[in-house]
Amino acid sequence: MNPLISTPSTPEPAEKDILNDLQRTVSASRLGLFLQCRLKFYFRHVLRVAKPRTPALHVGSAVHAVLNAWNKARWLEQPLTLKQAHDAFMSSWADQPEGPIPWEAGEEETEKTTGWRLVDTYLRESHVPAGLKPDAVEVPVQTDLSSQGLPVLIGVLDLVQRGEIIDYKTSSTTPNPDKVIHSTEIQTSAYALLYRHNTGKQENGIQLHHLVKLKNPKVVINTLPPMSLQQELRLMRQMEAYLNGLQSGRFVPSPGMHCSSCEFFKECRQWH
Ligand code: SF4
Repeated sequence: MNPLISTPSTPEPAEKDILNDLQRTVSASRLGLFLQCRLKFYFRHVLRVAKPRTPALHVGSAVHAVLNAWNKARWLEQPLTLKQAHDAFMSSWADQPEGPIPWEAGEEETEKTTGWRLVDTYLRESHVPAGLKPDAVEVPVQTDLSSQGLPVLIGVLDLVQRGEIIDYKTSSTTPNPDKVIHSTEIQTSAYALLYRHNTGKQENGIQLHHLVKLKNPKVVINTLPPMSLQQELRLMRQMEAYLNGLQSGRFVPSPGMHCSSCEFFKECRQWH
């Protein structure tokens, strides 16, 4: 390439095009973020302000990646040894696609140990036995809801086993079973709808596997029944609100407890 000839850079898409794209498809996490705080949604998905991963998110991603590798190996009927799982954890730990994590002094080693201890506890307690072949692992799915005036719902099912949808969570506190049904409802309903539309069958239930970051790590499993009709209708109304909200273009802040973990706090304080 001749260094004196500049190559044209790809133009940034206009805000109106981004907003149109965001109305064509929706995922559970995008919908949940929009309903939690429209301004945060705007910073992340419309302005696309890049931020490094938080330490907690990095631990969760590394744990998630090794559990997916473990489940894929089970699906191939070639289960991983604990050593192979550890190697997979170390390699996903080294992967920092959004740039270096803002660790405090000594924090990274502590968090790395915590992350591996979570995985180790989960695998040793055999919550997903090595010899049991899953129905599906990390499968991208979608369903077109345009006949109901809604976007295409998209998602990735981490694990389906014996007709049950299984999702992983990492947290620093023991989840309250009643509250967790409510706080994860957008995600669990979206997964149930995707499962039904892609298999023609009703799920046998949904399991949330929480890996809790305590001094002695523990695993808490919440088993939820299949999605009810009321939950399905709630999800439809929430998607309608998402579409209407994007069309109105009013991205206002919603201050609350969730702001403590918001990466756009500084930008938000300047908003008017
Ligand atoms: S700080 Fe709170 S109100 Fe502001 S953008 Fe973040 S979540 Fe929204």
